[in-house]
Amino acid sequence: MTIDELNFDEKGLIPAIVQDVQSKEILMLAYMNQESLNRSLKTGETWFYSRSRQELWNKGATSGNKQQIADICFDCDKDALIVKVIPEGPACHNGSYSCFSQSLIKDSGKPEASPSRFQIINELEETIARREAEMPEGAYTTYLFEKGLDKILKKVGEEAAEVIIAAKNRSSEELEWEAADLLYHLLVLLREQNVGLDDILAVLNKRHQS
Ligand code: AMP
Ligand code: ZN
Ligand code: ZN
Ligand code: ZN
Repeated sequence: MTIDELNFDEKGLIPAIVQDVQSKEILMLAYMNQESLNRSLKTGETWFYSRSRQELWNKGATSGNKQQIADICFDCDKDALIVKVIPEGPACHNGSYSCFSQSLIKDSGKPEASPSRFQIINELEETIARREAEMPEGAYTTYLFEKGLDKILKKVGEEAAEVIIAAKNRSSEELEWEAADLLYHLLVLLREQNVGLDDILAVLNKRHQS
């Protein structure tokens, strides 16, 4: 597959949906032409074509919020792209992790009517990704990312020890609490390492099959 097999529109553009490779959140939509796609492939960073300014645009060149490309997928009729990225900050120029934070159907912020069993883990992974990009002041997750890897590792260690103590005490209430702490801090660590929950699930699935 070469890029001249892609179906660019009459203006020489192809829509590119940008997705967080770990959290799977859709971050933004922009357009690429042949040259911006070439630059994206060559540099491993996202390059788009600005229709309003009619020029190439390296996402993050001024804001610092670059996107490292993990993969680029094309659809069945080769006229649309999904660019899977590791974001280094908010995708939206308004400072939001994702450009798509508003809904025509749902009230934003309200939980799903009947969330699936592991919905909260999904949402937690997404929230942690959002915090890492936006770094809102006062959030505990922001504090962990600011302190960095050593602090996160220390917390994972502490919470693991607290899980052990709770289990030794045969206190289910304490264990539930500490296991939740451990899960949360483990998710923060995975995000810091750019490892997605899907990667962990893939390992579990593979072991289960063999
Ligand atoms: P940046 O690429 O983040 O350094 O931002 C540079 C300029 O690109 C901004 O001033 C916007 O005009 C534009 N821009 C950045 N991010 C987006 C986006 N997600 N959607 C549309 N335009 C954007
Ligand atoms: Zn298509
Ligand atoms: Zn936006
Ligand atoms: Zn704890």
